[in-house]
Amino acid sequence: MNKIFTFLLLFFTFSGFSQSAKPKFEGQATTSTDKVDTRNHAIIPQWRGKKTLGNITFDNDFDGARLNGITQNNDTLYTAIIAAENYPINPSPWYAFKLTGKKPSTIWVNLTYLNAKHRYFPKISRDGKTWQVVDSTDCVLVKDPEAKNRTFQENALSESAFVRIRVDEKPTWISAQELMTSAIVNNWSKGILKNKFVSSEIIGKSPQNRPFQCLRIGEDKTDSKIMIVIGRLHPPEVTGQFALQAFVESLCMDSEIAKKFRKEYTVFVVPMMNPDGVDNGHWRHNTGGIDLNRDWSDFNQPETQFVRDFLRKKLNGTKSKLYFGIDFHSTWDDIFYTNLTESPTNMDGLIKRWFGALEQAIPDYKVNSRGSKPASGVISKAFFNKEFNAEALVYEVGDNTSRDFTILKSKTAAEKLMILSLEYLK
Ligand SMILES: [Zn+2]
Repeated sequence: MNKIFTFLLLFFTFSGFSQSAKPKFEGQATTSTDKVDTRNHAIIPQWRGKKTLGNITFDNDFDGARLNGITQNNDTLYTAIIAAENYPINPSPWYAFKLTGKKPSTIWVNLTYLNAKHRYFPKISRDGKTWQVVDSTDCVLVKDPEAKNRTFQENALSESAFVRIRVDEKPTWISAQELMTSAIVNNWSKGILKNKFVSSEIIGKSPQNRPFQCLRIGEDKTDSKIMIVIGRLHPPEVTGQFALQAFVESLCMDSEIAKKFRKEYTVFVVPMMNPDGVDNGHWRHNTGGIDLNRDWSDFNQPETQFVRDFLRKKLNGTKSKLYFGIDFHSTWDDIFYTNLTESPTNMDGLIKRWFGALEQAIPDYKVNSRGSKPASGVISKAFFNKEFNAEALVYEVGDNTSRDFTILKSKTAAEKLMILSLEYLK
């Protein structure tokens, strides 16, 4: 009996069912958000097209694709080379490509990376819209022997991965995460815009001429009480995009709370902050070659300037106030990055109460958060606080957090935010 129990315990520990065995994510290194030069840094454009090797055609000619090179080792093995838009860069090695075969066959593709390791467990699709995680028996991770016992974050990454793919004349997509291009996000925005209390404005055009859409949710024509939601500064951070969408959908619900909230507060949403980077399949940067979430102090890049200028126009010299700012991202695990502010904000204590409400609402859930001083900050939450005295945070979703939990948590977060911010009016 004991042996069986031990076996089961080990099984659940290693298969990730045991939450307590998972070490707590302490957040990215604090030095990683230090001020850096955000003036343009050249990028290497990706060659795009189709390449046929043997029976198989590889295709990276679509939005969000990234495949920098492909070679054939033998009849059933190919090597893919994945590279970043420029270096140095964070370890978020995005890849996405499509395969077809003249006749049905099964091949292996070895995913290899230039100056990076394998991070994202592959996702597969037959229509480019619905995705599944590749079956674990179809993906072999090649780990450095020293990393074998490490199970968490950057240190535990594999050197490369072999993916088994069944190919036929219909395309098969392989991607680091579900494809969420700027066109897909625009389509989602169109759905949100069907609500009569939602309108939108183009607040700029990206360097490659993609529109920068800002949605406006609310029924107070004076826009006196403002909140801002932004996301997708970093292209591979698709799980953050899922959370953003669920959050915004909840603000648009037909519930009594949401109706009351929309009478009082106006929420502006920029769901796609880096459309060029996303559609070019970048690992992190925009076409200026810069991490946009290090540019909220110097504002050298057009994408950050659009939001800064929009908020200044709404808030400076008006009676309006910014109460809350939220920026959706993805990282190794769920975490919130908050501001440690010295003086009271426009909605002082909101985020602290909000965390408490989240823990009460979601069984067995503990908020993981870390604060930093906004004074010298170069990321969005610091800007929202320093310039407009807003409560602000970064909402990070784990790369592998279950999509269902991501949506549940985000919907709950939106609902609790609406309830708490209405309490401030009493
Ligand atoms: Zn990010």
